[in-house]
Amino acid sequence: MAAKTLRIIPLGGLGEVGKNMMAIEYGENILIIDAGIMFPENDMLGIDYIIPDFGYLRERTGLVRGIIITHGHEDHTGAIRHLLDVVTAPIYATRLTRGLLEVKLRRGGMLEDVDMHTIEAGDKLSIGPFDLEFFHVCHSIPDGVGLGITTPSGLIVHSGDYKFDHTPVDGWPTDFGKLADFGSRGVLALLADSTNSDRTGWTPSEATLDTAFDSVFRAAQGRILIGTFASLISRIQQVANAARRHNRVMSFVGTSMVENARMARKLGYLDISDEFIVPLEQALQMKPSRVIIMCTGTQGEPMSILGRLSKGTYRAFDIQPGDTVILSSAPIPGNEEMIHRTINRLFQRGADVRYEPIEPIHVSGHASREESKLLLQLVKPKYLIPIHGELRHLKQHAKLAEEMGIPPENIAVVENGTPIEFTDGKLSLGERIPGGYVFVDGSGVGDVGPRVIRERESLARDGIVAVHLMLDRKTEKLLCDPEIVSKGFVFTRDAEILFEDARRHIREVIEGNENEEDEIEERVERELARFLKSRTRRRPVIFVFASVS
Ligand SMILES: [Zn+2]
Ligand SMILES: [Zn+2]
Repeated sequence: MAAKTLRIIPLGGLGEVGKNMMAIEYGENILIIDAGIMFPENDMLGIDYIIPDFGYLRERTGLVRGIIITHGHEDHTGAIRHLLDVVTAPIYATRLTRGLLEVKLRRGGMLEDVDMHTIEAGDKLSIGPFDLEFFHVCHSIPDGVGLGITTPSGLIVHSGDYKFDHTPVDGWPTDFGKLADFGSRGVLALLADSTNSDRTGWTPSEATLDTAFDSVFRAAQGRILIGTFASLISRIQQVANAARRHNRVMSFVGTSMVENARMARKLGYLDISDEFIVPLEQALQMKPSRVIIMCTGTQGEPMSILGRLSKGTYRAFDIQPGDTVILSSAPIPGNEEMIHRTINRLFQRGADVRYEPIEPIHVSGHASREESKLLLQLVKPKYLIPIHGELRHLKQHAKLAEEMGIPPENIAVVENGTPIEFTDGKLSLGERIPGGYVFVDGSGVGDVGPRVIRERESLARDGIVAVHLMLDRKTEKLLCDPEIVSKGFVFTRDAEILFEDARRHIREVIEGNENEEDEIEERVERELARFLKSRTRRRPVIFVFASVS
């Protein structure tokens, strides 16, 4: 039975933007596509990033035959070290993607132990029962691929992240021919990028940015600071081209930016000659009108370089009046508020800030609706599985496919953790598997759960109330009045009356129900929470500790 079923298991990126990861399973064989991270939303306090839940793989480590990484963006590569802590399997990636993965693995001291293979668009490769064909896709980073996977159940096409750009930065458009070839051979299912499924028309070409950069560069009198993702290699190339045209030199700031640029230049994917790159110290000594500083932090991350510059806490230099700051990337949903705060602060410090949509200094790397339709026309799949996107994106993708005549029952909109199964060419949904968030917080992986996040939210919103109970060892009665202190909860003036009532309430709780099963601390915590909520409508974190005498 099981041997006849092909399972497509979304472990990340379905129902969210980020941490893309898919497992394809047939019999005793699992193929993994991508292992990305997601940046925390601003209500996930203290979290560095989020990785997919590897629970399903942890019980099947021996079945994983290979890991394919479609391109070098963080939301496809960022969790690789964590994945390799769980499974051991060869990794397949194109030259640039491999180079960027190596930067990551070297930093984690893992590079020597990893079995890496370079593939290129056009290559064919067999892994277990899967025959893979890689094809080139155009995106905001060079060397991206999608894949055709011939399985015993039929041909599956995975788009990766793609757009149809006729004038891409590296001159290499998406492989229409290969997609049409798949279409003519008959495709069981298409797994296609949905990130921009709610955008009409076509995504503008990368080439449109050249004019936008030119006009901003012409207007800038002082230094130009450009914020983007360290893995947006095509954008870095465009900035370099503009730098050359306007006789400015570039300086890269921040570890990931420096390392990625170095690797991409070494491999020939970033064409910048030596005389156009200077170290930061040198750039800071130069005439401001000759300088471009490339850095990260376009998502409003407080600890990023732009984040620190906006607050005046970056060690190497400060924003000065006359600086032009260009944010050349789109907000990841959920980050808008933080980004706006950073922009305001940069303006406050005297910079001129250029950002989307007021300025066309960013184009998306993802297909808009017309491109999604073209992909469907070329590939002509029997089934569509929208991937990469929040539920609204997946739903819009599904609607668009319906408009094109794909029957609704042949479109599977699912979120992480719901496997899609093909048995005898028929689609059904499998039993749910773990597909949630695993938080990475400092050095800890998964030790911060939703409960901790909820506590941090309460702390940030309503503060903390600590209660000390001094109890008699034998009778468990209070030996004296409970002590209550608080931080970030209410004004001391208001607190006196409130806490007096709270102390009385706690006494009643302790003396009132002696036969309760739970610990005194828990009971006091619960009752005090109820009491404070009714009096103040707030829910501080309550911390009760008892000592006996
Ligand atoms: Zn991407
Ligand atoms: Zn992506």
